[in-house]
Amino acid sequence: MPLFGPKRVCAHCGREVRRHRDTADYLCPFCRQPGPWASLEQSEAFEAEQLARARYEEMLSAMSAGTIPARKSLLDEVSAAAGYAGEQLARMNEDAWASSVSAAVADDIVTAEEYARIEALTLALGLDWTEVSRTRAELADHVAVAAINGGLLPEVEPIVLIPKVGEIVRLEVQATLMKLVPIRQYQAGYQGFSFPIGKTGIRYRVGGVRGKSVVIGTEFQAADVGTLCVSSERAVFVGRAKTLELPYAKLVSLTVYGDAVQFHQSNRQTAPLFRVPKPDIVAALINALADPAGPRTQKS
Ligand SMILES: [Zn+2]
Repeated sequence: MPLFGPKRVCAHCGREVRRHRDTADYLCPFCRQPGPWASLEQSEAFEAEQLARARYEEMLSAMSAGTIPARKSLLDEVSAAAGYAGEQLARMNEDAWASSVSAAVADDIVTAEEYARIEALTLALGLDWTEVSRTRAELADHVAVAAINGGLLPEVEPIVLIPKVGEIVRLEVQATLMKLVPIRQYQAGYQGFSFPIGKTGIRYRVGGVRGKSVVIGTEFQAADVGTLCVSSERAVFVGRAKTLELPYAKLVSLTVYGDAVQFHQSNRQTAPLFRVPKPDIVAALINALADPAGPRTQKS
């Protein structure tokens, strides 16, 4: 075979294409369509794959809009015929999931019906909830908050809190009780001085000003670590050093920070602040439980 093979014109883009050494490489290098050297079988396989891809993308966009195919196997058949690389397929599926779920949580309320649809969608796309909770953490957290807003409250087997009769434990999370402490800084008096060793003695400086520590502000520091338990009636912090009971009946307001929640209770002068994982979810749950009208179950 000569170094430079013969050329033919590509039917799709009209450019001259040299025959490739590897017959499996039949796509035109210019337009990525089957080139002039492709066999009939290769061209047909390419067409079939393109059709399957178009069909798969249609199915995904229907799923994004809320239509879940009757059988999951249909989706699998079409995706197999489409011949996507595994990584590309996973990304497409996850994008379709995210766009459908984003629409469901846009109003911050996920009803039981919507929640069931999200679960069916997750299953149909072959996604694992634990996995998407990691890769799309923000969206998964948004679902958790919106589901609580919609009245879907979690229930856990209590490990730390001993519930009273009729009390339901909804959540137990690791928490750090924070306290405001002054930040002190050493403020020097005289500047230091240096001297050669052995040549002279150290002179005592009469009237020398010693450095002192001064308050330059305040910051939160960990005061105790433990578990924040959220039940149907109260939040309870069970720490190594102390226990704080925060009944919803005395809860005036709640402040949510990026990494903490703070309880303002009518029976306490200071507002206890707890550093917790996912403060939005903790706050949504307490808000739903403390609301005298009860958690919302209907979209308003
Ligand atoms: Zn071409």
